[in-house]
Amino acid sequence: MDSINSELLENWANPSSSYRLGRSAKKALDGARGYVASFINAQFDQVVFTSGATEAINSAISSAIQSAPSKKHIITSCVEHSATLAYCEYLESAHGYEITRLPVSLDGLINLDQLNAAFRKDTAVVSLIWANNETGVVWPMSEIVKLCKMLKIPLHVDAVQAVGKMAVDFHSLGADFLSLSGHKIGAVKGSGALIVREPDSFVPMLYGGRQERGLRGGTECLPLFVALGEAFRTCSEHYLSRWEEIRNLRDAFEAKIVSLIAGASIHGKNSPRLPNTTSLHLPGIDSDAAVTYLDQKGICVSSGSACLESAITPSHVIYAMTQSHEIASETLRISLGLNTKEEELNKLISNLLDLRDVYS
Ligand code: PLP
Repeated sequence: MDSINSELLENWANPSSSYRLGRSAKKALDGARGYVASFINAQFDQVVFTSGATEAINSAISSAIQSAPSKKHIITSCVEHSATLAYCEYLESAHGYEITRLPVSLDGLINLDQLNAAFRKDTAVVSLIWANNETGVVWPMSEIVKLCKMLKIPLHVDAVQAVGKMAVDFHSLGADFLSLSGHKIGAVKGSGALIVREPDSFVPMLYGGRQERGLRGGTECLPLFVALGEAFRTCSEHYLSRWEEIRNLRDAFEAKIVSLIAGASIHGKNSPRLPNTTSLHLPGIDSDAAVTYLDQKGICVSSGSACLESAITPSHVIYAMTQSHEIASETLRISLGLNTKEEELNKLISNLLDLRDVYS
């Protein structure tokens, strides 16, 4: 907040202006870019600030397909965020792209043989989520990168949930594009970045001025991007170890729920997962009703992705894992924060027990 205030009040000039205040704004923007780059081990010039991950994801896919206009096939998965799914649907219906949406197992994993089999001569880009926003299931991205590299097919990684909660090293990963979102790392909603391996061959989505070294036209929103940089600056390895403490809290919570509520289970429990996410199947309990009930008790949980919440359809991610609309509509997604306390989880458990009694 302090960084936003000071940017709004003091550093209000346009970072592209050559007068002194403009140069000072540019310095702040460069500083922010440096913090983002160093946190994920990318180069300074590979970071393009965006309005969030939706823009970053659309821009990555758009750049890849425009670089190879004769290729009309895209590979993604059934469990992507709507930022990927909706853009692919648009490309399919309006521009004749063929989209392969890879299925997932009951554990929420993709099958690398199926990915291998999906590659075609006309595959323009692969776009896959690294850590799922609803289940926290983490995919073996280095393996995926190797497969794409063998066939020289560009890979975009949606790393929105991964960044800040697990080690992310853009350089060693070797992906072509990586998207991140500010509000998942304590920055402001509406900020994010696209990390581009080869900025020189990037095809922009927004044409305009030479901002972002010509990769994204339009005057940068300095306060948001400086706050994004600050959020990364204040994260350290120490920060990742704090998430591991949250993992212990989460695991203990899950064990209690499974022992107290007959039939309850955790989606993706046997897969590598982020430390903070729980996707809970509570048989017989309608998740939308549970969300409303818990909201009245001051507890915020969701039944799927926040971005799809108004749609009142059961989670597409849980459906892809279980092939069951019923299970999908009985699933709650719970995200722990770095400040989540055991008492808060106990309060949630006792409310879930009350709910179970209402439904039984
Ligand atoms: N991808 C994932 C996995 C997300 O969880 C989100 C948002 O929560 C997005 C993409 C979209 O990010 P944004 O809201 O910054 O556009």
